[in-house]
Amino acid sequence: MNQDQRKTISVAIIGAGIAGLSCATRLKALGFTVQIYEKSRGVSGRMSTRKADDWSADHGAQYFTARDSLFIEEVNQWVDTDAAAIWNPRLRVYEAKQWRESVSSEHRYVGTPAMNSVGKHLARNLPIEFNQTIDRIAYNNSKWLLHSLEAGDIEQQFDWLVIALPAPQAQALAKSSDKSIEEIAADANMLGCWTVIANFAEKSDVPFDAAFINDEIISWISRNNSKPNRTGMETWTIHANPQWSQEWIELEKDEAAKRILNCAKTLGLDCDQAIITIHRWRYASGHINCIPGFRFREDLKIGFCGDWLHGGRVEGAWLSGHKLASQIANS
Ligand SMILES: Cc1cc2nc3c(=O)[nH]c(=O)nc-3n(C[C@H](O)[C@H](O)[C@H](O)COP(=O)(O)OP(=O)(O)OC[C@H]3O[C@@H](n4cnc5c(N)ncnc54)[C@H](O)[C@@H]3O)c2cc1C
Repeated sequence: MNQDQRKTISVAIIGAGIAGLSCATRLKALGFTVQIYEKSRGVSGRMSTRKADDWSADHGAQYFTARDSLFIEEVNQWVDTDAAAIWNPRLRVYEAKQWRESVSSEHRYVGTPAMNSVGKHLARNLPIEFNQTIDRIAYNNSKWLLHSLEAGDIEQQFDWLVIALPAPQAQALAKSSDKSIEEIAADANMLGCWTVIANFAEKSDVPFDAAFINDEIISWISRNNSKPNRTGMETWTIHANPQWSQEWIELEKDEAAKRILNCAKTLGLDCDQAIITIHRWRYASGHINCIPGFRFREDLKIGFCGDWLHGGRVEGAWLSGHKLASQIANS
C-alpha cells in the first residue's frame, strides 16, 4: 500500500493518552487519515497536570524513563523541542523505617513546563474531538460506527478502529465486538491510586525532592517545584501505594486524604498548613505479564494499544501505540 492509497483509509482512535497520540502520529506519518476522540477536555490521559491560578502539579505519571532505542530517539526529540527535560531530584528511599539516598543513576524525564506538555506536543498536528466519551461501537458493512455520550451518533464512519484506553475501559467498550478482549483485559489487573496534592505558602524544609516509600500507605512523594521550568507555589504530590489504594478506593475523599496525610507526617512532610486536593485514579497501573505490545484483529479491522499491553508506564504506552500503527500499515 502506498501513501496515496493509505490516505483513503480512515482510522478512528479512541483515547488521547500517550498511546493514542503515539499511534495517531505514526499512522498519520504513514499516510492514513486519522481522527481522535477524547472524553476529557485535554490530551495526555494519565500523564496529567492539575492546574490552579497559583500552582500546578503532576498528579499522574511523575517521570518517565527511556530504555528502548525507538523510545530514546523519540524522547530526544521531545527534549530538543523543550517538551521534556531530564529531572535530577534529590532522591531518597524509605525502607524498613530507615532513610537512605537512592543509588539509581538512570535518567528521569518529565514534560516541561508540565507533565502534560508531552501530550500537547504530540497532539499539535492531530485532529482531536474533545468531550466525546465513546460509549458504543459497531462494525457494520466493513465500517466502524461510533456513538458518543455527549453527541450521539458520530456521522463519520471508519475503516479501522484503534482503542487506546486502560484495560477495563477497553474491555467494557469492545467486548461485544471482540469477545476475547474480556479475558485478556482482565489479566491486566489494573489497580487504582489515591493522589494527594499539598500546596504550601512557603518553601518546606524537607531535605529531599522525591522519595520512594516502602511498606507504608504512601509509595511516593515529590516536590513539583524541583522539576525543570515549574513556577508557582511549593507543591507536593503524594501517591498512596497501589494495593492500599485499591483496597480503599471507595473511601470518602476527606477520609482518604486524612489517612494519607497522617502517614506523610510520620515521614517528615507535615501538611497541616497546606491546601489539600485529592484525586482518585480508578485505573492507575497494571499490565498483562506476557507483553504482547498491542492487540490486533485484521478480520475486524480493530486494534488495541496502551500501557497495559506493553509492560505498563509511559514508555510502554508510547511503544504500544507506535507498534500497533506499524502493524496496521503492514496488514
Ligand atoms: C498516579 C499515577 C502515577 C504514575 N506514575 C508513573 C511514573 O512515574 N512513570 C511512568 O512511566 N508511568 C507512570 N504512570 C503510568 C502512566 O501514566 C501510564 O502508563 C500512561 O500515561 C498510560 O497511557 P495510555 O495512553 O496507555 O492511557 P491513558 O493515559 O489512560 O489514556 C487513555 C485516554 O482515554 C481517554 N478515555 C477513556 N475512556 C474514554 C472513552 N470512552 N472515550 C474517549 N476517551 C476515553 C482518557 O480520558 C485518556 O485520555 C502513572 C500513572 C498514574 C495514574
